[in-house]
Amino acid sequence: MDKRYAAQIRLPEIGISGQQRLSESHVLCVGAGGLAASVLPALVAAGVGKITLIDKDVISASNLNRQTLFLPTELGLPKVTQLATRLAAQNPSIAINPIIDNLTLENAYALSNNHDLILDCCDDYQTKLLINDTCVNFKKPWIYASALGWDGQVAMFSNSSLDTPCLRCYSSRIPINSLSCNNSGVLGASVNIVGSFQATLALQTLLQHYENKDKMYIFDLWSLQVQEFIIPYNNNCKHEQLINANYKNYQYTPLTTNELDNFHIIDIRTLTEWENGHLPAAQHVNIGSLISNPEQYLVPSKPTLIYCNQQQLSKLAVDNLRPLGFNVWWLSGGYNAYKEKQG
Ligand SMILES: [Zn+2]
Repeated sequence: MDKRYAAQIRLPEIGISGQQRLSESHVLCVGAGGLAASVLPALVAAGVGKITLIDKDVISASNLNRQTLFLPTELGLPKVTQLATRLAAQNPSIAINPIIDNLTLENAYALSNNHDLILDCCDDYQTKLLINDTCVNFKKPWIYASALGWDGQVAMFSNSSLDTPCLRCYSSRIPINSLSCNNSGVLGASVNIVGSFQATLALQTLLQHYENKDKMYIFDLWSLQVQEFIIPYNNNCKHEQLINANYKNYQYTPLTTNELDNFHIIDIRTLTEWENGHLPAAQHVNIGSLISNPEQYLVPSKPTLIYCNQQQLSKLAVDNLRPLGFNVWWLSGGYNAYKEKQG
């Protein structure tokens, strides 16, 4: 084993087998800002085998107080490529895969499926929910983190069983329109505390040491106090709805009506069923017409969500349209599930 890891191999919690495990691990890091600048050098130094970075942002001057791996000469360049260059130089034996993009409904499922652990290093709440839902679906562990103002939060959501809590179980405690660093202010030194904590939880997770799972750590980064509590499983969260043993890509389960706004919506049930009630903003299209003439009904600027009464027909439509390159999704549980949820 490489001498560079000798000091950590001497730790009984790691040893040679733990080091081997780290070297075989694949981590997806969502966001390449301040948290990533703290977390990733720690994972790269520890010998995590493969790291994928996804972020669409470019480096701006206002990032430099906390995104400590970027240089003033790099303004305007994509964050992920610059970060990848730094990390590859730090430890050339690690595979670093930068992706200039946002995490979206379309890429989240495939990306998380290929990784052992997902790191939430983003500052946008909708993306955190997308990571959550994807990880609930695939029963993947992920490390949630946020550092805003003098408040820091870190948690490892294990998704190890059906009744482990998820971010939505906890989210009543997070303001939905949570501020981002740009408007609430943040200090680089405090982001580093949160990021180091996140890195430690990440390494523990990869080493299959789960004692600190499903606990929220709350930092007061000014008074330097840390509190922890076990995140309660919330029966009202119904996050098990996100889990489907027959899960297939391109299934979509909205948990709030607002989430449907992201889609162009097509109803492929019979005209009578449509006339008796349908989703707001939906368009009625016969499934045969849709499959034979999709250009006429699909809107290029938006993903399309197709629903039937349950889901067999909409899955069939998606199975036909996806290979043609259309960004289409089927509504999990169909109109019946939607109606039931509305009460
Ligand atoms: Zn939940």
